[in-house]
Amino acid sequence: MKNGIMPIGVVISGADPLTSLEKVASFAISTCQMSVPSEQWQSKARMELIKKTAKEKEIRITSLICGFEGENYRDIPTIKRTVGLLNPAMRGKRVLKVFSYSGIAAELGVEVIQAHIGFIPEDRNDPDYEGLVLALQKIADYCKENNQSVSLETGQERALVLSKFIEDVNRLNLGVNFDPANMLLYDADDPIKALDTLGKYVIGVHCKDGKRPERKGELGEEYPLGEGDVGIEKFIDKLKEIGYTGPLTIEREISGEKQMRDILQAKKLLKKLANKE
Ligand code: MG
Repeated sequence: MKNGIMPIGVVISGADPLTSLEKVASFAISTCQMSVPSEQWQSKARMELIKKTAKEKEIRITSLICGFEGENYRDIPTIKRTVGLLNPAMRGKRVLKVFSYSGIAAELGVEVIQAHIGFIPEDRNDPDYEGLVLALQKIADYCKENNQSVSLETGQERALVLSKFIEDVNRLNLGVNFDPANMLLYDADDPIKALDTLGKYVIGVHCKDGKRPERKGELGEEYPLGEGDVGIEKFIDKLKEIGYTGPLTIEREISGEKQMRDILQAKKLLKKLANKE
């Protein structure tokens, strides 16, 4: 495999974008997905500075990850109530928020808006289903005006449910950020087989590992890349098979020294797997 195909990336925080970009540079990684810069970084001058710094360090920000105030990943009922666009009480306000994130991405020259939209109902007759479809249509149309794609993080529902949802939204700039570990953490699907269903929609991926929960209704546990049950080698092989050439973005949802070590280990592993014939 030629160099430059499937570059390595890493998920970073937008709380202090310059420090985060510094971290990416210290890993010698060339792409990143960044969460929306914190409010004090949203002035024109400071966004210019983020853009300039990324350019100087030769780092490409491949997507902007949207979050919303009040989201909580404590357990599945809490996620259902608080995360993304599922809860109709917050949906309208959050759609407007995504519009503003799209504007920020445009300022930064980022072409993908990415989000967990919440659990997509399995039943298309569920009262929340249609509202979610309409919300995504509005978001996709808004982002299209800014020449952006919208990328849904996978794994909180079965691949088939997500692919039907994407068909129902019916917008060409809508795809997925495929996170194989989430499929296990939420006990939703088989991460490798899911790529058969969702492969054509893949805009980005998270290289993350994990194991299914021990008891139904709970969340599984995240592991360092290569130590969980995803089967990272099979995952990378499958990405090659479907012709994916985008970044392999490492996501390690812990903090501190251990996170740094795990990211470097993950980078080493991915380099080896991506370059394997
Ligand atoms: Mg993820």
